Amino acid sequence: MSSTALPPFVQALGHGVFAIDTAFQRDHFDAAYLVVHGGRAAFIDTGTNDAVPRLLAALQSLDLRPEDVDWVIPTHVHLDHAGGAGLLMQHLPQARLLVHPRGARHLVNPGKLWASATAVYGAEEMARSYGEVVPVLAARVDTSHDGMTVHLAGRPLWLADTPGHARHHHCIWDESSGGWFTGDTFGLSYREFDTAQGAWIVPTSTPMHFDPQTLRQSIQRLLAQQPRCMYLTHFGRVQDVPRLGALLLSLLDDMATLGRRLRHAPDRHQTLKQGQLEMFARSLQAHGYAGSLAQIEQLLAMDLELNAQGLGIWLDR
Ligand SMILES: [Zn+2]
Repeated sequence: MSSTALPPFVQALGHGVFAIDTAFQRDHFDAAYLVVHGGRAAFIDTGTNDAVPRLLAALQSLDLRPEDVDWVIPTHVHLDHAGGAGLLMQHLPQARLLVHPRGARHLVNPGKLWASATAVYGAEEMARSYGEVVPVLAARVDTSHDGMTVHLAGRPLWLADTPGHARHHHCIWDESSGGWFTGDTFGLSYREFDTAQGAWIVPTSTPMHFDPQTLRQSIQRLLAQQPRCMYLTHFGRVQDVPRLGALLLSLLDDMATLGRRLRHAPDRHQTLKQGQLEMFARSLQAHGYAGSLAQIEQLLAMDLELNAQGLGIWLDR
């Protein structure tokens, strides 16, 4: 192990798993993970280009060299998870990129991904938060399939196809720690909402592929493994998985019901945002969260907007 202290943005979680705060949007919002075993390393999710210096600093702080990284594995190709993958790969001479087959072409040729992200976020936010998406050489890309296992110095990482949030989403099962790297499939859990009851969790319905029934099946599949923990991109490791799974599925049903009820509502987008805010505030109140409605609205501002967009696309499909 390293003789030097870890940087403040790197958290050791045991079993050779490290969470790296990418600082995307705000602190404690977007994580990348580093799995280290037998002197070899894998990154799971990368954040955006701005995260790459932190990812490389995390490696160095663990006395690892860039050539010790075997895998870069984005959970899906939404840019807060994979936007920095191309730039990161340029720094890692031995690494292969392992991506869902529906996401691979978007990282090799990011033009369409860029255009669809611009449609969601707007050109200004794209320039501010994402920078240029660097393509990955096709020869360095492997595609996953359901049930595939890759190894990190003999440590198995098992890939499961988990559609519902995005069709290009896989989750990674780490037998050694009994945890799933869940990307966005197991929702979002911001540490600001932790109370005496523990963590709070909420589904994410970001465009373009949200489908509540499919997402429910993927979540149940993750839970069936009886995980000891979940490694969420937003944000960090959560334990107490059965309780969180029940809360997540309950809110997922409520979001779908809200969407169906408001299918033909006038000014549907705003109504969906407001309806979700009220639903999440009720849930947080039951969870013992003492913050104000304004604080909830601020912490969930981006999610309320993206969820409403994704619900609208689902309702119109
Ligand atoms: Zn996503």
